Amino acid sequence: MKRILVIGGGSAGVMFSNRMRNEFSPDEVEITVIERNTMHVYQPAFTLVVFDLDDPKNLLRPMKDLFFDGIKLVHDQAVKIDAPNNKVITAKSGELTYDYLVVATGAKLFFEEPEGLKEGIEKGTNVQTFYQLDGAIKLRDTLKEIDGGTIVMSVCEMPIKCPAAPMKFIMMAEDTMRQRGKRDKFKFIFTTPMPAVFSREPYASKLVNIFGSRGIDTVANFAPSMVDYDKGVIKDYGGKEVKFDLLCITPPHGGEAVIEESEGVGDAAGWVSCDKNLMVSKKYNNVFGIGDATDFPTSKTASGIRKQAKVLVSRLKADIKGETSTERYDGEIICPILTKYKRVMFAHFNYEESISPAIESYGNWVLKVHMLRPLYWNLMLNGLI
Ligand SMILES: Cc1cc2nc3c(=O)[nH]c(=O)nc-3n(C[C@H](O)[C@H](O)[C@H](O)COP(=O)(O)OP(=O)(O)OC[C@H]3O[C@@H](n4cnc5c(N)ncnc54)[C@H](O)[C@@H]3O)c2cc1C
Repeated sequence: MKRILVIGGGSAGVMFSNRMRNEFSPDEVEITVIERNTMHVYQPAFTLVVFDLDDPKNLLRPMKDLFFDGIKLVHDQAVKIDAPNNKVITAKSGELTYDYLVVATGAKLFFEEPEGLKEGIEKGTNVQTFYQLDGAIKLRDTLKEIDGGTIVMSVCEMPIKCPAAPMKFIMMAEDTMRQRGKRDKFKFIFTTPMPAVFSREPYASKLVNIFGSRGIDTVANFAPSMVDYDKGVIKDYGGKEVKFDLLCITPPHGGEAVIEESEGVGDAAGWVSCDKNLMVSKKYNNVFGIGDATDFPTSKTASGIRKQAKVLVSRLKADIKGETSTERYDGEIICPILTKYKRVMFAHFNYEESISPAIESYGNWVLKVHMLRPLYWNLMLNGLI
């Protein structure tokens, strides 16, 4: 009997665990998941909530309902991984030992920097974020009331979850005001710490064209150092300033505290250090990373996790059976970018190359807005697609 311990019951923890359970009975492999939250949140629809395209209640399900029978769910916080001794120290349940450890702790949002961000968000008027569900709901309500001014979408630093989400927001906000006949009352600005709006061709050129043709300004190489919510100004380290009436911000991301507490598991930012193809820890051969928690050099998306779960299950299955797996994660992700109402462009690429053309289509809209969430709850989390 092999024991697999998983930390995290987000997209990665559930997709991996259920897929693994599809391969082995509880008598053959014991799967235990440590998860501190009782509810699972479907984050890819946060951008839909902002534009009233989905109901927040559709995004939440109890954790316990998502795992297949025979998977043990421990409601607790993992405090430290003692990898040399194959155990995880928890806040309430003592030490849990394992043969294989799968770290699926996701990404943490940091609001302490830039200066003034936390206070601005807490004030909750002209500084907001849709990277959390309550923030997405608040922003939805604000957009319904706002009658004019400068809306700024600012990304603090990379990497972030779904790097296209901030672009989706600014393009959809612009189109929303156009639909309402109020476009000329607004200015739209997108700031990014990167040299350009998007890094991958052909999507990058397409997005530059869309921004240009619709009057969305870009301020590149803008790494925010300070948010002055009283004056409505965001400043960067180089002294540049951008004025706003409404600032939507993607806060800095990093790994969870448990990674920093665990010697040899993560890098300086708290991401789990893994081989980008084999998904195994660079230091411990029975520790694996999956999902947003990892340092894989690709976008942090649920679509990527779906691919990663298949690879990791195949590799662990082979290892348990004393066989060899040739499966490798090639960095593949698919990111649906809402460019305006009824139009979505898929950015589909892997570590090496872009896979799909840069085309906006209504069919992609139907898939993203109406089909992906049901597919996620019913098929993806169950490891069926
Ligand atoms: C605004 C936004 C838009 C997005 N859009 C898309 C999209 O269109 N398409 C797409 O594919 N992806 C999208 N994503 C990204 C996608 O949601 C994430 O990649 C995915 O949810 C990450 O799953 P995960 O399991 O790695 O992390 P998470 O879902 O964050 O789960 C991590 C889990 O680990 C638990 N945990 C962490 N530390 C501990 C600990 N120490 N002890 C116990 N439990 C712990 C947490 O409670 C959490 O439940 C978007 C994300 C956002 C925020």
